[in-house]
Amino acid sequence: MVTTSVDERHPGFGGQGDGHGGHATHDVANQPAPLAPYDASDDIALLEGLRREGAGWAEEDLRRLGRLAGSAQVQEWSEQANRHEPELRTHDRYGHRIDEVAFHPSWHHLMRTAVAEGLAAAPWADDRPGAHVARTAGGLVWGHTDAGHGCPTSMTYAAVPVLRRQPELAKVYEPLLTSREYEPGLRVPTEKRGLLAGMGMTEKQGGSDVRTNTTTATPTAEPGVYALRGHKWFTSAPMCDVFLVLAQAPGGLSCFLVPRVLPDGTRNTFRIQRLKDKLGNRSNASSEPEFDGTAAWLVGPEGQGVKTIIEMVNCTRLDCVMMSAALMRKTLVEAGHHVRHRSAFGARLVDQPLMRNVLADLALESEAATTLTLRLAGAADRAVRGDAGEAAFRRIATAVGKYWVTKRGPAFTAEALECLGGNGYVEESGMPRHYREAPLLSIWEGSGNVNALDVLRALGRDPATAQALLDELALSRGADARLDAAVVRLKDLLAEGAQVNARRLVERMALTLQGSLLVRHAPPAVADAFCATRLGGDWGHAFGTLPAAAGLDALVDRALPDTA
Ligand SMILES: Cc1cc2nc3c(=O)[nH]c(=O)nc-3n(C[C@H](O)[C@H](O)[C@H](O)COP(=O)(O)OP(=O)(O)OC[C@H]3O[C@@H](n4cnc5c(N)ncnc54)[C@H](O)[C@@H]3O)c2cc1C
Repeated sequence: MVTTSVDERHPGFGGQGDGHGGHATHDVANQPAPLAPYDASDDIALLEGLRREGAGWAEEDLRRLGRLAGSAQVQEWSEQANRHEPELRTHDRYGHRIDEVAFHPSWHHLMRTAVAEGLAAAPWADDRPGAHVARTAGGLVWGHTDAGHGCPTSMTYAAVPVLRRQPELAKVYEPLLTSREYEPGLRVPTEKRGLLAGMGMTEKQGGSDVRTNTTTATPTAEPGVYALRGHKWFTSAPMCDVFLVLAQAPGGLSCFLVPRVLPDGTRNTFRIQRLKDKLGNRSNASSEPEFDGTAAWLVGPEGQGVKTIIEMVNCTRLDCVMMSAALMRKTLVEAGHHVRHRSAFGARLVDQPLMRNVLADLALESEAATTLTLRLAGAADRAVRGDAGEAAFRRIATAVGKYWVTKRGPAFTAEALECLGGNGYVEESGMPRHYREAPLLSIWEGSGNVNALDVLRALGRDPATAQALLDELALSRGADARLDAAVVRLKDLLAEGAQVNARRLVERMALTLQGSLLVRHAPPAVADAFCATRLGGDWGHAFGTLPAAAGLDALVDRALPDTA
């Protein structure tokens, strides 16, 4: 590994020219320079996965996006969008109800770039095999910026396959949702160049259990159009143009399309009671809307609301895995940069064996998360093109990945933050923001238990899903004895199917799948360290507990770009 000391690369940071660094009492020394600008796509596991899953054609664009994501400008937008939080404006200055949310310009810069780069719904209008993989890979590098605006781009992506259930609505809205133009502001949807979509499922009395929804949908004189009355307890990104909403129609819980502005230019009733004061995800607005005579268009058959909207959840769950993997990678790169340019006890932190173990363990986890994310994206891409085997694999593996990768996020980001010592605990480092984001990804789109139970549901209802997973695992049979043994144990657990064991089962599924992918696709040092720890029983409870035999240098060198 080529290493350069802090003082060689950043003489200014080791002591300012005036000898005081702006301070009368001391020079500023041993403080790393900011990471940006850097290349967020400088990630071997990401680039290998991109090619393997059929989107090698997108590499040049991905590299460009990676440099943009890591630029000082975009990192600044990300920080600003979170520092200057969205504001609810219920009324205009004359007292008219407007129910709008005002965002800092940085939010709009981020949104405009994300939509233009195809990170919203563009892949649905792209026939090239691998288009969905390219979007996921784009999300992995753009995830180094601000996570909050990933919410409306994700929901817009996920709304398209649902709308296809109602072809006459899809005909109108799909070309606008798949557009690469970001046009903020509430106007008649069909008069805009690009649209964003949100979703409203969760109510006060139940989020995971949406069958308890009390919002009613009463048919109007116009066929297919209903009037909604009720509320939602969480509806993020309320400045989206259209929402997919669940409500109780005469035939049962149904899915509806709710535009914020009606075709005649008047506002649809969408009273925003307030915005949530959240742990993280603060650049994004999450609202509590109320519906009262709100016009809504039925999507899919009455009474099939959950079945209809579930495709949206499948897509957003993949994005939760992607965003967790992106947060891991971002915080790993920040940690690696810091320890390369910070010394303690006479040596650079990166050269100290115990810090090297922490970095290597984080690198291992990050690569496992990235590799799984791209495999899931590949399955999604092939499934939407009609591959039944991949559809079965996607059905189960997305829920497995959502459970496990998002569950690892908070522990991972906390450990990466700690690599920066006290600096990591300070907002200016950006690490607290990433840390606060991590738990959200395991809450929304199905919390941990709900995802684990969803895996049981898939196994129970569709045996093809278990078979698809086992077929995938069989591809690595014989390559590593610890992995083979883990597959045997997994088969025993699969036969149990008890709710109380769902987390045990899904955790084993996730680790075995990650092990199988790494054995097939990663260098021996990575695969060996993963199998020894995550599958072979030699695993500590904290990061940084890899056995000394694990090729720590190889893991660190593969994972960490040489940041200046
Ligand atoms: C920042 C943010 C933004 C959001 N944005 C949106 C949005 O745009 N649209 C939207 O519709 N929703 C949104 N949500 C809501 C989110 O999807 C729900 O909070 C989530 O699905 C959990 O539902 P709940 O809050 O009702 O919790 P509950 O359903 O009450 O769950 C509480 C706990 O019980 C567990 N649990 C539930 N059922 C079982 C069971 N059978 N067995 C064991 N454990 C169980 C859950 O895993 C969870 O840990 C958002 C939430 C947040 C935090």
